[in-house]
Amino acid sequence: MTRRIGILGGTFDPVHIGHLRGALEVAELLDLDEVRLTPSARPPHRGTPQVSAEDRLAMVQCAVQGVTPLTVDDRELRRDKPSYTVDTLLSLRQELAVHDQLFLLLGWDAFCGLPSWHRWEELLDHCHILVLQRPDADSEAPDELRNLLAGRSVSDPLTLNGPGGQISFIWQTPLEVSATQLRERLASGRSIRFLVPDAVLAYIHAHGLYPASN
Ligand code: ATP
Repeated sequence: MTRRIGILGGTFDPVHIGHLRGALEVAELLDLDEVRLTPSARPPHRGTPQVSAEDRLAMVQCAVQGVTPLTVDDRELRRDKPSYTVDTLLSLRQELAVHDQLFLLLGWDAFCGLPSWHRWEELLDHCHILVLQRPDADSEAPDELRNLLAGRSVSDPLTLNGPGGQISFIWQTPLEVSATQLRERLASGRSIRFLVPDAVLAYIHAHGLYPASN
């Protein structure tokens, strides 16, 4: 039987409802067997996360606990190298049958940054790409992605077929929330309740993460 697996990589500093609704809605829409939230260790494109990899992983674990079909994949944290998505896909492919389908979930902002990723032109050899719309994203796709979109995009995500190679857009419930915004709220002593699962909030409080800077 063909397995259908989604991957949502991110810093998850901290994980929030934008990530979780996106993952869940894609899983339901495409009837995925699993969506793996995959925290990155040393993200190549951005500054050092505010909290440790262990805490970011633990928060993602709290967030998905009991939420079928969301799971956590910690392979990037076990690797002693920068978190390159192409390596993650290659390592996942080794565990799957050739016909299994892999779907890489990317928010629009992450998708627009693709041309700066390590070996980005190979990504579609290993997976389909699903682009999640973000309400705060108003930029145009960069030129390098225009040809790719023209050649590889499929308007209806339900028609994506084969193990990989195509791109489609998903219109998830718009949630204008980002981890940056949450860190700012916490730094100024404001609440992030209802923007993260209660279990994540409890973890943040229990471990004294993101202290207010007053
Ligand atoms: P930061 O504000 O620290 O940059 P972030 O909220 O964008 O963080 P990341 O962990 O960097 O979160 O994001 C992981 C993935 O989830 C990226 O592909 C990103 O585009 C996507 N994403 C994050 N927030 C949302 C959201 N509100 N709606 C849709 N996609 C999102």
